Amino acid sequence: MQGICLLGATGSIGQSTLDIIAQHPDKFVLINASANESVDKMAAICRRFKPQRVVMGSKKARDELAQQCADLTTSFEWGERALESIASDSAVDQVMAAIMGFAGLKPTLAGIRAGKRTLLANKESLVTAGKLFMDEVVRHNVTLLPIDSEHNAIYQSLPQTASGAHKQDVSKVILTASGGPFRTWSMEDMLAVTPEQACKHPNWSMGQKISIDSASLMNKGLELIEACWLFDVTPDEVDVVVHPESIVHSMVSYRDGSVIAQMGNPDMKIPIAYGMSWPNRVETNVAPLSLVDIACLNFESPDLVRFPNLRLAADAWFMGGTAMAVLNATNEIAVAAFLNRQIGFLDIAKLNEQVLTSANITAVSTLDDVFEADTYARRFAQDLISRGGFS
Ligand code: NAD
Ligand code: MG
Repeated sequence: MQGICLLGATGSIGQSTLDIIAQHPDKFVLINASANESVDKMAAICRRFKPQRVVMGSKKARDELAQQCADLTTSFEWGERALESIASDSAVDQVMAAIMGFAGLKPTLAGIRAGKRTLLANKESLVTAGKLFMDEVVRHNVTLLPIDSEHNAIYQSLPQTASGAHKQDVSKVILTASGGPFRTWSMEDMLAVTPEQACKHPNWSMGQKISIDSASLMNKGLELIEACWLFDVTPDEVDVVVHPESIVHSMVSYRDGSVIAQMGNPDMKIPIAYGMSWPNRVETNVAPLSLVDIACLNFESPDLVRFPNLRLAADAWFMGGTAMAVLNATNEIAVAAFLNRQIGFLDIAKLNEQVLTSANITAVSTLDDVFEADTYARRFAQDLISRGGFS
């Protein structure tokens, strides 16, 4: 029986994780869970799964939840320290890191430092803290399983030796991208898109932020950096290929000409179940893949002129130091401003480019450096938005 701490239980990944737990009550049990503000959703989770400890983002949300669930034995807590505490709890075997954005970094690291198996959906934490994050994984001998579907596919397609002994056989990592809802749109048409249009992903049902990132290709940019840290490669060793059907979730190309791919219907329950049950597999209720019904799989190159975010992510990797934290923070501010209708869709990449190219980028030696860069870039971006000072 594996005890799960689910960080971000009320989100899209959180709900799919609960689905897998519910399908396999003999294998998994929800020990602890967290959410930011969604009291009603969390109350329903508490009634169904009866976790030991639940952490909310504010005292107000905690108090409301505690009132709604006064008949349960669950302990209700709130705040950053409590989040770190539920991730490192001795009753927990696996931490599902499914908080949205940079806010996920500290609790994810707390789980890693406690040696928990870490299921990483929260790509922003790895993108921003990169080397420090991976150093902690090694130091605490942690099993880190990528949940992002592409990275999960690459993980499944890499040589199956724990030591990575055959890494020299790998010639390229091939990261697939759906291209998002505006794959075929002109710049002119993209000028006026609304948050509702941008959130409508053709293949995946996801949280708002990652849906916007998918539409702007920043998601693929973050994933490029994520792949570099996870699999010890550089952007030069990763090919990004647009594959609108989202059936091939990514591939690994070998020096003898073999290419190994992982395929499946686009449903996050597949990589989630893989991470939870690794090195075994369990059933999911995802429909079996029918290649005959799909009939046709298409592949094309990404357009870096219409979607500059992918290029910016590679730039940030090569700039090194705090550049990736700066790009991520700026993008989080830009996406929030787009969702609030303060800036247009194409302004997201413009703002990202302006902050990345004019910010002060420094070396990263401690986690404080990452947090300082994050705060600095958020202010910088917010200031440009309020002054309308980017073009
Ligand atoms: P979501 O917006 O649906 O859910 C986010 C969860 O995090 C919610 O439970 C919310 O309460 C919590 N949260 C948000 N802000 C918080 C904060 N400041 N402090 C504490 N908790 C906070 O997001 P999602 O789509 O489930 O994505 C979660 C993470 O997984 C993201 O990093 C995303 O990039 C990654 N991911 C998601 C998918 C997907 O299909 N949804 C696929 C790959 C990777
Ligand atoms: Mg992905």
